[in-house]
Amino acid sequence: MTTVRILPELLSNQIAAGEVVERPSSVIKELVENSIDARASAITIEIEKSGKSLIRVSDDGIGLSRDDALLSIERYATSKIFKTEDLFCISTMGFRGEALPSIASVSKFTMVTRPENKDTGTRIEIIGGKVRNVSDAGAPMGTLVEVKDLFFNTPARKKFLKSDNTEISHISDAIAGISLGHPHIRFRLFSNKVLQKNYPSSDTLFQRAVNVLGTEVSKKMAEIRYSDDALTLSGYCVLPDIVRNTASRIFLFVNRRLVYDRGLISAIFQGYRGRLMKGRYPLVVLFIDIAFDSVDVNVHPTKREVRFFNHQEVYEAVSRAVDHALSNTRKEGQGGKAPEGEIPSGSLGIYSDRPIFVRENDSPRVEQRVMTWGSLKNKPVEKEPVEDIPFCIPEPGPEPMFHPDPPRILGQVLGTYILAESGAGLLLIDQHAAHERILYEALRKRVTALGMAGQTLLVPETLELGHKESDTLLGLLPHLSSLGIEVEPFGGTTFIIKSVPSIISQKAMTPILREVIETSLMDKNEFSKDRWLDDCLILMACHKAVRANLRMNVMEMQNLLKDLEKCENPLHCPHGRPICVTLTQNDLEKLFKRIV
Ligand code: ADP
Ligand code: MG
Repeated sequence: MTTVRILPELLSNQIAAGEVVERPSSVIKELVENSIDARASAITIEIEKSGKSLIRVSDDGIGLSRDDALLSIERYATSKIFKTEDLFCISTMGFRGEALPSIASVSKFTMVTRPENKDTGTRIEIIGGKVRNVSDAGAPMGTLVEVKDLFFNTPARKKFLKSDNTEISHISDAIAGISLGHPHIRFRLFSNKVLQKNYPSSDTLFQRAVNVLGTEVSKKMAEIRYSDDALTLSGYCVLPDIVRNTASRIFLFVNRRLVYDRGLISAIFQGYRGRLMKGRYPLVVLFIDIAFDSVDVNVHPTKREVRFFNHQEVYEAVSRAVDHALSNTRKEGQGGKAPEGEIPSGSLGIYSDRPIFVRENDSPRVEQRVMTWGSLKNKPVEKEPVEDIPFCIPEPGPEPMFHPDPPRILGQVLGTYILAESGAGLLLIDQHAAHERILYEALRKRVTALGMAGQTLLVPETLELGHKESDTLLGLLPHLSSLGIEVEPFGGTTFIIKSVPSIISQKAMTPILREVIETSLMDKNEFSKDRWLDDCLILMACHKAVRANLRMNVMEMQNLLKDLEKCENPLHCPHGRPICVTLTQNDLEKLFKRIV
């Protein structure tokens, strides 16, 4: 690393001013990022009283000479950037040269540092921004920064600090995020001298992600991989069986820098579309590597916000890559990468957590993953000539990607759930959700292949609307027309429906249109034709799907499950609700206390 220099005034002014130090976690973030920039291989973070009374970050990085150490605590002193142009190609974590002086001005600050080529280190003590002592100190190579009594001289800011638990959770989130960006660095967090987090150095992001997100995700991670001329995406998204109530487990990195970007988060949701319930958040670690001049990271002093010059392209690539990862993983049978040589135990089907692993040619490695409805023990289902279930669209459908044995149907419960048995255990399938999924995918395929042919109504339907609704509908008319829905104004706020897509009944059209109008009224987001079309298809599928409380015979249920099996995403209805709940043998034995 080059020596520390003062930024030219012009550049200083170009850097957005602002506060870096908001709470203990922001201090830790700055100090840890400095350690990373100093090429540390192990970073230890110690806190007392959630960082309010003590924060200590020590590293084994390159350290600083006495002169550089003294300079590092001057405002705008940085070793990382020299010219205005550099601001636009920022590749290190820190670049503003304001963290250390800011932190030192609101705490009792000590830095002990020694570079490799010196025998003695330097100790600098600063209280409330005033240098109190500079001395030689025996020290290992690297840097230790100690921040005591944060905000001792700014009581107003101290008051804003939250409870110890809240502050600690901010701290562990910050460390989790930063550590995901640097799997090879070892991180440890001690709180009141007790080890709280230990992320050992690891060769792979997979391993670090499991450390950070919890071992439960290890078999549920779908690998994200995408590359084009403009950007490269990599990372993992966790299958939607594991979700959170907040976005705190969505970690986004742009050029290895942890960022926060609402657009990216909604692009991720778009990728999960149809797989997540409302209000649920997925677990994702996503790296976007993009030319440094295609992104501006200098938007906010805490450096978590970014601005992409071609944001639409980036968002689309992210949605597609996430969707692709999730679809592929489902086809392959599970998420993640099975460690070489290890055959995971368990052998269950698509409605179970556990995949079947097949050894090929007796190879000790996992060579191939196969998913089935779950039965190795299942009796083959008798092949009977069966009729199509009511309302089901006879679509050629893709080659069945699963083992052809469907589960054995035991009956219907509450007129709503199909009860079946497979090798996975006892399955409860929501008939409406399942049918919705089948219809939705069939509709989507049909629209992709043929567009939507309209069928002229012999007796047109009239639609009476309010003023707001009528304005909205006028804007939607061209889009509706491309869906085979011809609607014309009929004076005032009345419209007539002249044709509807052949796949949908005349009677169902009016409520669908009303819902479409209401949704467009509420959704202030930028109009996206694809998304809108998708919403329409979801509504159509929902209106046509078999209802709850409708008796079905065994044949109908079998057909429903067969069609479901052919779906790209048989696990969730298009609204994201689960289609099937599995009670494994283990679950049942636990329920009956055969095992504990
Ligand atoms: P910035 O990181 O934006 O450059 P800081 O105020 O965080 O600004 O740090 C100022 C300078 O101090 C850095 O540019 C770096 O040269 C030096 N420095 C800070 N922390 C460390 C560390 N842990 N190891 C080595 N050098 C450090
Ligand atoms: Mg810094």
